[in-house]
Amino acid sequence: AAQTFGEEGPVKTLGRIGSKLVVLSGKGGVGKSTVAVNLAVGLARAGRKVGLLDVDVHGPSVPRLLGLTGTRPMIGEDAMYPVGWRNNLRVMSLGFFLPDPEQAVIWRGPVKMGLIRHFLTEVRWGDLDHLVVDCPPGTGDEPLSVLQLLGTDAQAVIVTTPQGVAVDDVRRSVGFCRELGNPILGIVENMGGYVCPKCGELTPLFPAGGGEALAAEQGVTFLGRIPLHPDLTSAGDAGRSLYEADAAHPIVRALAPIVER
Ligand code: ADP
Repeated sequence: AAQTFGEEGPVKTLGRIGSKLVVLSGKGGVGKSTVAVNLAVGLARAGRKVGLLDVDVHGPSVPRLLGLTGTRPMIGEDAMYPVGWRNNLRVMSLGFFLPDPEQAVIWRGPVKMGLIRHFLTEVRWGDLDHLVVDCPPGTGDEPLSVLQLLGTDAQAVIVTTPQGVAVDDVRRSVGFCRELGNPILGIVENMGGYVCPKCGELTPLFPAGGGEALAAEQGVTFLGRIPLHPDLTSAGDAGRSLYEADAAHPIVRALAPIVER
């Protein structure tokens, strides 16, 4: 990272961060932001000082997931200041700067790369125990810049769904992290089945276990399986996280090994 960006690089703002956790996915819409938000809230509730950085240039959904839509962060001469969310959590999202969060984001590559760089180098976090980063999906230039700016000490959590295509994508994400030298904390399989809101029974939607089999194949920890659950969608829309709704929820259990480290 240092060779890409000069003295003004990440050190200025990322220097006082205990650990960096980057949430990746092979493609969009698999629940990456949901996992990032719940991980950040879980860590904050465990008493750590946490920053949540949403640099998903394709769909910055963190403001909506935390009920922060319409919030405008403070901007100084040469820095941006994150928005506080309850205790211990500070949030910065590209979504704060979009005029209309529902509008599709159309930016040319260089603009997106510039934004990613600003967001990684010019946010004044203060002292943090953890920085959780919601990365753009895939293994292209955008996630590449994010990981390069964060450095090889950023540890990855990879989110997938059990569909064949998503699992192939995640195999690429694992290779991507390995090539860059970033350790992988584990894989979370999301939307693997459907929980009936009336009786609570779990119905698989795809042949179960794709994420787990892939984790085993790649020698990566399998963190857990999160079913499709109306709770998770409505929690997102209501701007609260499952950490507050239900301590026994699969998303809480899947992230526990990271939160409780
Ligand atoms: P990504 O960041 O990968 O694009 P999001 O986390 O934004 O995906 O999730 C996409 C949508 O699906 C959001 O509206 C979110 O609330 C919803 N969602 C994610 N995971 C689940 C789940 N397990 N059950 C129900 N809805 C979910």
